Amino acid sequence: MSEISKWSIEEAIHTYQIDRWSEGYFSVNAKGELVARPTKEESSNISLSDITNEMKKEGIQFPAAIRFHDILRSQVRTLNETFQSTITEANFKGQYFGVFPIKVNQLREVIEEVVDIGKDYNYGLEAGSKAELLAVLAYNENPNSLTVLNGYKDLDYMQLAALGTQLGKNCVVVIEKLSEIYLLLDVMKSMNIEIKIGVRSKLGSKGSGKWAESAGEGAKFGLSICEILDLLEILKKEEKIHLLELFHFHIGSQIPDIRTIKENITEASRIYTDLIKLGAPIKFFDAGGGVGLNYDGSRSNCPSSTNYTLKDYIGDVVYILRDICDDAKVEHPNIVTETGRAVCAHHSCVVTNVFGNVELTNNKEIDTVPDSTDHLILKNIKLLLKDLNNSNYQDIYNDACILKDEAISAYKLGIIDLKQRSKIETLFWNINHRIISMTENQKYVPAEIKKLKYTLASKYLCNFSVFQSAPDSWAINQILPIVPLRRLDEEPTKPTTLADITCDSDGKISSFLGAEGNRSTLPLHELRKDEQYIIGLFLTGAYQDIMGDMHNLFGRLNEVHVYSDKDDPQGFYIEEVIHGHSAADVLGIMQYTPEMMCVKIKSQIDKQIKEGKIKPRVGVALNDFYEANIHGYTYLENL
Ligand SMILES: *Cc1c(COP(=O)(O)O)cnc(C)c1O
Repeated sequence: MSEISKWSIEEAIHTYQIDRWSEGYFSVNAKGELVARPTKEESSNISLSDITNEMKKEGIQFPAAIRFHDILRSQVRTLNETFQSTITEANFKGQYFGVFPIKVNQLREVIEEVVDIGKDYNYGLEAGSKAELLAVLAYNENPNSLTVLNGYKDLDYMQLAALGTQLGKNCVVVIEKLSEIYLLLDVMKSMNIEIKIGVRSKLGSKGSGKWAESAGEGAKFGLSICEILDLLEILKKEEKIHLLELFHFHIGSQIPDIRTIKENITEASRIYTDLIKLGAPIKFFDAGGGVGLNYDGSRSNCPSSTNYTLKDYIGDVVYILRDICDDAKVEHPNIVTETGRAVCAHHSCVVTNVFGNVELTNNKEIDTVPDSTDHLILKNIKLLLKDLNNSNYQDIYNDACILKDEAISAYKLGIIDLKQRSKIETLFWNINHRIISMTENQKYVPAEIKKLKYTLASKYLCNFSVFQSAPDSWAINQILPIVPLRRLDEEPTKPTTLADITCDSDGKISSFLGAEGNRSTLPLHELRKDEQYIIGLFLTGAYQDIMGDMHNLFGRLNEVHVYSDKDDPQGFYIEEVIHGHSAADVLGIMQYTPEMMCVKIKSQIDKQIKEGKIKPRVGVALNDFYEANIHGYTYLENL
């Protein structure tokens, strides 16, 4: 680069949209390092590079998940306190009794932290399956908070609800399908116990975003209006209507558009007031989950974003519900939400190293002086490169594509040789590279030329599995913020796409956030010899943490739990390290017996020794080596 770069840290924050997705929990320090601010105070800056350095000292390999429990606590606090202040401000008569849907992240450490900080707010837990219920029953010990039981249910599930009720918990069984009520009534009868009941409604209003089908008439869960009225009749007949305490709806996850939320809250509020008038003693209005995140920073109604904030959402729930209750002259209920993603996503990230790059072309300069031995195709493509200028690049590009195709045909027919073909292809890529740099700062660039940039981008090879650590990026093209941990004071000049280490061509990331909307390449820095280049994937605390699979037998990640500490020179300490899966762990899950595998290898080595093909000393070393790998990490080590 001849020009002196005018790059600044502000530029880095803008390029990676850090201010827009991080909710103030991440920023960049003067040294160009990405920092976490778990308490949102400037004094709580923790350099992620300091954390990775400490991990290195302790021998913790990449990839690793870093968990900031202070962020999780802060988000639980924010949710509850914003509800409380909005309720006060709106002179709303009910209270907020939020529940954390553990589906979002069932890790014990996460649940313990949520329960601990949540007890000041009577913040409860929500389960959507039997196994989740078992966890929720054990960990929600606050009798004043709710335990909401969602999902399809069998007899055991209902009996577990009875157990929870017997333990003095505020368990509410939400009827997701009408027949469940008979099962629940049977359990109540046979165990001679009363269990609180909720009902999930299918609303008529539409959903939006990637989970739009969670709402509306076609939804998998919930009762239609007709069925809700049937439920009321059944409960009245059985003299159990006094147990119907909760009205529930859930309009999907990552709702991008606030209008969807407003419409659904409005409809649900109306249904609530009508059910009250029909004699249902409902105390809790449960608006489910759905609060989205600004993954791509755009603050728009695109699927990876939202056109509202958590505070806007809370304002809508409280004010719409209040106004409709007042209009219908019905008492204000308590409000429940099952906000998961928005509480949990920021607290964890995945850090890993880029261990190499793959370039489509080597950008070698080729002499364009004509040579009498040049085949016509080579001669012509040399001319194209010479003629290329700002006004004809699109034309030249198309001609170059034709020549490149012709060269391949000519080669197959034996008309040109390998050397000539190599020259033609190199010249073709040189033309492409030159067009990209010519159009770099142009306002309008034709789509095919834009695509070129993606085609020619370096593939940065990252030591992780998309399927384990960023499943939504693969499955639903969800954008996750990705930022290098260092060198943010330096302009990132390489457009890249990211490739993981699975043997799967889907194991890549090629959609990124950008200052001007989503883009197909991520600007990163040139890799340097002898210097590790580390990137972080952010907002992975919700769903990504726990939905990942073991494609190619890449297992769970190493994990470090970081807490802020004002008295520490680096501002943090690592409270706990949880080692990720070893090869033995993942093989065990696939029904292998690692000890048995070692025995098998040993006998094969012994056979080679017996036949004189391997020296005994070498055999022992090979055996030890195999065993060490069986107990090793599933990802690339010691790079
Ligand atoms: C998934 C789910 C949630 C959590 O939704 P978020 O979008 O993560 O807030 C809440 N309630 C129910 C019933 C769910 O299925």
